[in-house]
Amino acid sequence: RVISPVSVSPKEEAIERALRPKLLDEYVGQMKVREQLEIFIGAAKKRAEALDHVLLFGPPGLGKTTLSHIIAQELGVNLRQTSGPVLEKPKDLAALLTNLEPNDVLFIDEIHRLSPVVEEILYPALEDYQIDIMIGEGPAARSIKLDLQPFTLVGATTRAGMLTNPLRDRFGIVARLEFYTADELARIVRRSAGLLNAPIDTEGAFEIARRSRGTPRIANRLLRRVRDYADVKGGGHISKDIAERALAMLDVDPQGFDLMDRKLLEAVIHRFDGGPVGLDNIAASIGEERDTIEDVIEPYLIQQGYLQRTPRGRTATLAAYRHLGVVPPQGEGG
Ligand code: ADP
Repeated sequence: RVISPVSVSPKEEAIERALRPKLLDEYVGQMKVREQLEIFIGAAKKRAEALDHVLLFGPPGLGKTTLSHIIAQELGVNLRQTSGPVLEKPKDLAALLTNLEPNDVLFIDEIHRLSPVVEEILYPALEDYQIDIMIGEGPAARSIKLDLQPFTLVGATTRAGMLTNPLRDRFGIVARLEFYTADELARIVRRSAGLLNAPIDTEGAFEIARRSRGTPRIANRLLRRVRDYADVKGGGHISKDIAERALAMLDVDPQGFDLMDRKLLEAVIHRFDGGPVGLDNIAASIGEERDTIEDVIEPYLIQQGYLQRTPRGRTATLAAYRHLGVVPPQGEGG
């Protein structure tokens, strides 16, 4: 999937890293989150204390990892990075925690996927900068308390609803990242084009931006594909026309929907009479994982008003019918 907002190869990740803004000022959009962080970071620095724990949530590709790096950079501390599924045993997390220096940032991606036993040792760490670890085995086993350096946990999740209450309650700063506007994405595209030495005009950048599903990762990825097209077909310069032709070739339509989006809307409309239909049925019907649909595909369709989430399942809206050129049944289609 060309426009999947989830990163794939190590090479892709290396390029992404190179395009990452390093400072809060270079981070485009998300005004509210940025303003909050600026104040809290400033205050923590002034008092030479650890910043409160931060929870970032929102769909993949919106800049959670980037923001965690920026937080560490702005605080002038180290960043240690891991993810929920990687931390299998309490000792994996204990090893990370005991190696932190004062006020460091620990970034845990996919924090909703921490195992309960690992989560358990995180609580006292977050609250009192202490952990209880077991030494030895069997009847000789005993628990000892270890003091940690003060630190900041930055947790990222695509779904805040999947966090347990005790974990969520331990974050002092909770920030929801929103989809970006086309103007914001156009700024990101122009900045990235500059870093990649790809000549682009304002309209070319806007064309890529408005087809990027509100997501910087997709904008950067499309930019690179369009640049390839421009190099071969357009003498290297990215204009509106080149962008349109390249994106059509990639099956990205003017709304930024790709084959998967269209497949989902088509399934809801044609196979389930416009819904309501449950996620599991959609998943089986289009051959995609339920989690991928919920985390990656549908948030943008819902935000754009093509799909609705109701207690009985998903329904297609009139906009979805129109987009696919299907006549909606009378009195239906939200
Ligand atoms: P997430 O962790 O939410 O999946 P990332 O932080 O990895 O997303 O961001 C994906 C890519 O998008 C990064 O390469 C980064 O360059 C770019 N990006 C994300 N947010 C912004 C932003 N606000 N301004 C500029 N570029 C951004």
